[in-house]
Amino acid sequence: MKIGIIGSGPSGLYLSIFLKIKHPESEVVVFEKESKLSKKLYATGNGHCNLLNKNLTKDKYNHPDFMASILEKYGYPFLEGVLKSLGIELTANGDYVYPLSESAPSYALYLKKLAEKVGVTFVTETRVLDYKAEEKEIEVKTDKKSFIFDKLIIATGGKSDPKLGSDGSFYEILKKHGYSIVEPIPGLTPLTLDDKDIKPLAGVRHKANVKAFLGKEKIFDENGEVLYKNDGISGIVIFNAESAIYRHKNPKDIELVVDLFPEWSFEELMNRLAHDEALNSKFYLDSYLVEPLQKHILSRSKGNDALCIATSMKNLRYSVKDHYGFDYSQVTIGGLSLNEVDENLSSIKEKGVYLIGELLDVDGDCGGYNLTWSLLSAIIVFKSL
Ligand SMILES: Cc1cc2nc3c(=O)[nH]c(=O)nc-3n(C[C@H](O)[C@H](O)[C@H](O)COP(=O)(O)OP(=O)(O)OC[C@H]3O[C@@H](n4cnc5c(N)ncnc54)[C@H](O)[C@@H]3O)c2cc1C
Repeated sequence: MKIGIIGSGPSGLYLSIFLKIKHPESEVVVFEKESKLSKKLYATGNGHCNLLNKNLTKDKYNHPDFMASILEKYGYPFLEGVLKSLGIELTANGDYVYPLSESAPSYALYLKKLAEKVGVTFVTETRVLDYKAEEKEIEVKTDKKSFIFDKLIIATGGKSDPKLGSDGSFYEILKKHGYSIVEPIPGLTPLTLDDKDIKPLAGVRHKANVKAFLGKEKIFDENGEVLYKNDGISGIVIFNAESAIYRHKNPKDIELVVDLFPEWSFEELMNRLAHDEALNSKFYLDSYLVEPLQKHILSRSKGNDALCIATSMKNLRYSVKDHYGFDYSQVTIGGLSLNEVDENLSSIKEKGVYLIGELLDVDGDCGGYNLTWSLLSAIIVFKSL
């Protein structure tokens, strides 16, 4: 069997290894338009590669119903076992799981060396321009020459952080083949805020609870560290909020509500503030917040008493202007419609063609869920081939 894979990101790379191990007599060829394999993988997890999450549940993804049956079959222990069977040792920080080296470059190199060892062929600096799927064979046309395969796997990724390889150009090729593409939107990005008071806070970090409201509907509620920027707000909790917001069809009039002290009830915070103010009238707020955040709170409080300050601290309201765009995005919301594939991720339209990874309309929260999907989608196709 001759198998062609377009894209050497984690989904294509994992699948190439699985298939070559399962069918050693088969030819497995991976096309990559960049000179470096799996370029994006090097940048994952801030260079540490957060590749799995122990809390692997369907609600961490945009299509929980689609993920439910997949995760029933292939839960976290199964995935850990698959990686261990490839000699990949893991370490965890809470639920976040990393390679033991905690190094994304080392992990990317390990996968590359493993693929080479089992006999995968790489054709780099070669862009696939199109393909033709016929009854008995599939022709892959590159910017250099054409190749013939029995099966073709398309693993060309989404549109996020295009300098790392995937730039969304394969959506256009798939559209020409009649596939429907759910409009790609940047996911897991910082948010810009419509707020003139934000600028002096640039660089300030604080643990918080963040809620997002679409009109009156609460669509997001999570704790985490926020990081203020010149014109907006960032941090893992904000990335997740951004994805929750922009997964909505009509993300208008979005309000963020930030509670700077979620571990205390309103009454508890108010009593503490009143007590500490009585002790140290002038400087008691210094023990709560850094100076720019104190000023921000005071400028938004109706008065200087504990009641007003506690209200501000637990109720900072910001109007969301926009997301930061694809250049700052870690995952693409949207992509190839799930209606175009069967339960094996095989194309419904074109025989012998499979579609995996971020290319599909599957996106997960921050915390390893997107690399998990790369692995899951590779396993699904591997099981059926
Ligand atoms: C900065 C950053 C940090 C991230 N950190 C994490 C993390 O810690 N944990 C996590 O779970 N997720 C993380 N992600 C998301 C994760 O990296 C992606 O979801 C994952 O890489 C998707 O894998 P993929 O194989 O589907 O696509 P990609 O990794 O995008 O790979 C697709 C490949 O196809 C190639 N290609 C595209 N078109 C063609 C063509 N026509 N011809 C030939 N080759 C082509 C591209 O060059 C690319 O190499 C991060 C993303 C970014 C941007």
